Amino acid sequence: MQEGLHKIVQVDDTIAAISTPLGVAGLGVIRLSGGEARRITRRFFRPLAESRDFQHQHAIVGTCVDASGELLDEVVVMYFQAPHSYTGEDVIEITGHGNPLVLKLLLKTACTSGARVARPGEFTLRAVAHGKIDLLQAEGVREFIEAQTETQARTALRQMGGFLSNRIRPLKESLVGEIAHLEAGIDFAEDDVSVPDNASVIAIIAPLRDQLSRLRDSFGYGRMVANGLRVAILGKPNVGKSSLFNRLLCVDRAIVTDIPGTTRDVLTETINIAGVPLRLADTAGIRQTADRIESLGVSRTFETLSDADLALIVLDGSNDLDNNDREILQKTAAVPYMIVINKSDLPQKLDIRPLNGTRRVSVSAKTGTGLGNLHEEIRAFLLSHKTDASEDWMLTNERQHDAINKAVTALATACEGLESQVPHEMILMDLYRALEALGELTGEVVTEDILDRIFSTFCIGK
Ligand code: GDP
Repeated sequence: MQEGLHKIVQVDDTIAAISTPLGVAGLGVIRLSGGEARRITRRFFRPLAESRDFQHQHAIVGTCVDASGELLDEVVVMYFQAPHSYTGEDVIEITGHGNPLVLKLLLKTACTSGARVARPGEFTLRAVAHGKIDLLQAEGVREFIEAQTETQARTALRQMGGFLSNRIRPLKESLVGEIAHLEAGIDFAEDDVSVPDNASVIAIIAPLRDQLSRLRDSFGYGRMVANGLRVAILGKPNVGKSSLFNRLLCVDRAIVTDIPGTTRDVLTETINIAGVPLRLADTAGIRQTADRIESLGVSRTFETLSDADLALIVLDGSNDLDNNDREILQKTAAVPYMIVINKSDLPQKLDIRPLNGTRRVSVSAKTGTGLGNLHEEIRAFLLSHKTDASEDWMLTNERQHDAINKAVTALATACEGLESQVPHEMILMDLYRALEALGELTGEVVTEDILDRIFSTFCIGK
């Protein structure tokens, strides 16, 4: 088992879980992992052919029975022999019918036969504990299961396959090499071991810092791919926010009327642009109002705005700017925004000169004209966050970002120290800090806290 993890992770029992969603389906799978998986399964599984025993990667057809010998289901059982399984332990997968009640009974039977119900992500945690995958790959597994767009799935799949880990490994090896080099210079200085000169150490450390900082900067876009982009549709009442929201969703979700102030709560729906989930929020129209409910809606609008990655400020092209519009433009200035001039099907009266220099699109939510351009502008906004590194090395989660950021900061401090002739003992402290951060990233350095951060959000059965 991986060093460090054995103190935290318990792997001496056999775990079981329903690995498919609990709904009515054609099939449902129960999975067991641990040294006793076969013995436990034999207690309630009856193969059709008497003599059949479990063989690695072979399926056996049979039935499952409960403690009193009553038939539970007709099933197919697959066996994966340790260490050639997902978890690295003996694994049994029982595929039965997708009836949630029967699956729960099967799980109960597995548990009365000696298994323990698995915690969320425990199969994957065991895979990490047995060195089948590292923490980055484990996070890839979770992100793959949860992916909502093709881009998310593709990115997660690469991470699951070790893409990021493989990129980090040589950087770490090079850092370890440099640490050894400096340590030798200190330890054996009296034995005529040459002390490395600072320029040559910088020549190794600075490129490491730069590569890692490029990776860190890919998080801006990576976070959008992973978490989606929060887009708030804002504007005064009656400019066509709800109509635009419905158009972007391609369904009539929000109520459209010509009575100002009808949208009083925030409606949210998700669409997909350029492989990134866009969480669109239709907000209450912003205006000075004495109506208590409407003004509650307006304050929710400002809360939504403060969380948004992008605001679409809707103006009515058939009327000129008024004070409500100006106030909205002012209040939104802190968030990246785009102006949508709506009602392009009507004679245009809006003076666009004050809006010069801002990203803007003209549309008609009524006829659909210009919606393609709006999609294109949003897409361009998204892609403007992509760095050169994003194609290749995209960070998608906060934990990874924090760890890499720590490593970059430590390496930057080391480089500055080398330039100003700081003693090598001090430089080494920075380099060890960087190494520890990279260890946290891949899982060589683990704490309960890190494991909790990763596995608490997993689903049960994975
Ligand atoms: P909101 O209050 O900003 O959400 O605005 P709504 O979407 O409820 O629309 C207010 C009124 O403007 C409704 O009567 C809509 O039919 C009308 N409207 C919305 N978009 C357009 C448009 O592009 N052209 C025209 N002519 N009318 C529109």
